[in-house]
This record gives sequence, structure tokens and C-alpha cells, in this order.
Amino acid sequence: MTCISNSSNLNLTIRQVIKKYGLLQNNCYMRSLGQNFIIDESLLDKIVKSALPIDEKDCIIEIGPGPCGLTRSIIKHCNNKLICVEKDTKFKQLHNDIFNNVRFIYDDALNINLSNLTNKRIVIISNLPYNIGNALLTKWLLNDINRIDDITIMLQEEVVDRICAAHNSKQYGKISILSQLLCDVKKLFTASNKVFVPQPKVTSAVIKLTPKNIKIENLNKLTQLLDKCFLFRRKMIYSTLIKSYKQFNKDNINGILSKCNILPQYRPENITPTQYYELVKYL
Ligand code: SAM
Repeated sequence: MTCISNSSNLNLTIRQVIKKYGLLQNNCYMRSLGQNFIIDESLLDKIVKSALPIDEKDCIIEIGPGPCGLTRSIIKHCNNKLICVEKDTKFKQLHNDIFNNVRFIYDDALNINLSNLTNKRIVIISNLPYNIGNALLTKWLLNDINRIDDITIMLQEEVVDRICAAHNSKQYGKISILSQLLCDVKKLFTASNKVFVPQPKVTSAVIKLTPKNIKIENLNKLTQLLDKCFLFRRKMIYSTLIKSYKQFNKDNINGILSKCNILPQYRPENITPTQYYELVKYL
């Protein structure tokens, strides 16, 4: 793909690009948008290589290109069509200066349905804005999963651990259940704070989610059930169900739980993703 213009910016390191465009100056830098930029180019390459191989017909979507360190690595390793979604328009000039064949959309990624951006199948590669990482992933799992081939993202390690958490653990919750039901999930590696400017206070990690290509019925019903269960983590499943599903009496609820091999006194974290999926079929 001949994505890159003749700009001299390409000869600059990412640190130099950040300096040239004054991206860390007080009037420019936006902490609220999670603007911690990766300056270690070998790490950027490592993230992209973790997403390979990518079908040449797929469209790659990057959320939050910012100064384009990851964007440059994507272009270096892939020939695919590339769409970037960035909320902060201050990067527009920089993007125009460097690329002439990448589609940049300036909008809030939370407002965008990825499936509306392209007719192709989608691969997501991104160093996500950490404050909305969980919300974005949930949105993709619920709305776009049938169009996605792979998701390789950097997030704070704590969120990556929640996505991968097994049942019976403290980190286990709604995002673990949705992610593991719909995808194979794999924590790939962690990254030191030193590779970012400015340095974030949290540790970061890269995770890969590969959709299982199974059709999950009742996804909305499932998320409603999970919201109810995890609102009070200490509450027994029997109590949550009897309070929330008034069409069922005690015997009905006990019968449903028994069919799913769930004990009435189980807490939300004791129930596996597959058991939740079974349970929702009866509710
Ligand atoms: N890709 C760059 C890198 O890896 O160094 C920057 C990643 S930085 C962690 C997150 C980026 O997401 C920033 O460029 C920020 O402006 C952008 N961003 C924050 N919230 C966003 C949103 N709701 N929609 C789209 N982009 C957003």
C-alpha cells in the first residue's frame, strides 16, 4: 500500500514527532483522553506482529492513532486498508502531513459502529484510551463481533487480567464472561511505563481476542442478567433471580438452576460463562 506521503516527518522518531507538533505542551495535551503515547518503536512493532497474520482482504481499524507511532508500524507490516478513529482533532494536521492513503475519522469511538465503517471483515489493532477500554470492548463484543476477525489491544494490565479472569476469582465479572463466551482470549505481554510519554501510573498489557465464530442468542438478555448479578457480587444467584424475574416462583427458579448445574447459593463469580449462557436460555 502506498500510504505514506513524501513528508520528512517519516524520518523522525515518534518522540521527535511529538516534540515537533507540541503534543505535550500544556495547552495541547489532554489527560482526559488517555493520551499516553508509546515512544518505543520496537514495542510498537511487537504489538503489530502479535496481530499477524492478517487476511489481506481484511480492513484494519485503529482507535486513537494520536501521533501515529502504532499507525506507522501497522503500515510497515501490513498492506491492508486502514481506518483510524481519533477523537482529538489537534492531530489532524500531523495526520495530513504524514499520510495520504489512510482514512482518518475524527469522532468519539464510542459513538461509532465499526461495522458501518467498512464492508470488509475487521481486525482491530490499538493502544486504547484506557479510561474507555472496557466500554469500547463491550460495545464491540455486543455489536460488531460477527464482523471481527481479531482484536489486538493494549490496555491497563488490571483490565486485561479482568478479561482473562477465571470464575471463582475476584477479577471475574461481566467483561470476563462476555469476552470468554464470544472469543478465545490470550494475555500476550506487559509493557513498562517507561515506553510512554507521559508515563501512565498503571502497568500496561497487550491482549488478543479471537472471536469463536459462534452465534450467541439472547446476548442482550445475557448482559441484563450479568448487570443484575454483578450489581451485588455477594448476593446469592437464587436471591437475584427470584427478585429480578417475577414471572417465576421458587420452584421454577430452583428447577432452572438445577438444569444448569448451578447451586442456589452460588455467588455471581462462582458461575462459569457457559453456565450463564445456559441460564439465560430459560429466563
Ligand atoms: N496510538 C497512540 C500510541 O499508541 O502511542 C496513542 C494512544 S493513546 C493511549 C489514546 C489515543 O486515543 C489518543 O490519541 C486519544 O486522543 C484517543 N482517544 C481518546 N478517547 C477517544 C475516543 N473516545 N475516541 C477516539 N479516540 C480517542
